[in-house]
Amino acid sequence: MRMKHTRHTLTVGAAFAAAAMTLGLAAPTVQAAPPATSTTSATPSAATAPDIPVANVKAHLGQFQQIADANGGNRAHGHAGYKTSLDYVKGKLDAAGFTTSVQEFTSSGATGYNLIADWPGGDTTKTVMAGAHLDSVDEGPGVNDDGSGSAGILETALAVSRDRLKPAKHLRFGWFGAEELGLVGSKHYVDSLSAAERAKISSYLNFDMIGSPNPGYFVYDDDPALEKVFKDYFTKLSIPTEVETEGDGRSDHAPFKDAGIPVGGLFSGADYIKTPAQAQKWGGTAGKAFDACYHRSCDTSTNIDDTVLGHQTDAIAYALWQLAS
Ligand SMILES: [Zn+2]
Repeated sequence: MRMKHTRHTLTVGAAFAAAAMTLGLAAPTVQAAPPATSTTSATPSAATAPDIPVANVKAHLGQFQQIADANGGNRAHGHAGYKTSLDYVKGKLDAAGFTTSVQEFTSSGATGYNLIADWPGGDTTKTVMAGAHLDSVDEGPGVNDDGSGSAGILETALAVSRDRLKPAKHLRFGWFGAEELGLVGSKHYVDSLSAAERAKISSYLNFDMIGSPNPGYFVYDDDPALEKVFKDYFTKLSIPTEVETEGDGRSDHAPFKDAGIPVGGLFSGADYIKTPAQAQKWGGTAGKAFDACYHRSCDTSTNIDDTVLGHQTDAIAYALWQLAS
């Protein structure tokens, strides 16, 4: 997740509207949003999502740590550790039968890369997409931020392959570059889609930091139907959730949301401080950050709570199996 102080207060659209008003131009035509996703009508016959082995997710995190160790301690945009991370994820997906593509862009004078993986089949006019950012900050290996989300959606994608899932809707996964520089990769991806291609994405689910060591269970409250899918899952586990506010607009779902695509996601907390009430319901330490190593060199493979990582990864699988059926 990107730093709060880099957050833009004015969207490009708002800036254009303001400029248009100043110049006496007509306001831009607002694009019709795609129809809202209907997730409440999921049939009872929907295939059951598998339990995602947390050991497998942790193995990917171990690989990200090793990649950082071998490449100057990070996996940041413009550094060798980023592309090596992308090659690792792509190799797993290619071997599992995904159709992958690497999208290049330039940011801060360096080449950045997005990895897009499509699971063949399903109705592409109703694509369900899950994404995470694969870059770390310069300061550390970024295992929780956002190795956790990257590994979580990778292992879920591999579970799709293991199950030989034939979902009614098309499934797509995305690993974005240069998120930490201002959502650069995800903006580039959304900008690269035509209006028709954007309209085919019925939902985008974002996972940025899902293994925080002093964890919380936060659900994005953007699209009500998508929020409900995650809340239903945690209700089954008797785990209370809260609305995600710390990362609002600070991760890769923002460009999708700005394009009118319904978005949702999960988050386990960054540098906000856990309250006593939160410690009571989730365990952990009150008065301490959810992730005291946020954007620091200590965001290593030991900076992960296995329980929250396991639950949130299972929730990703649950949501994708529900939404795509
Ligand atoms: Zn971050």
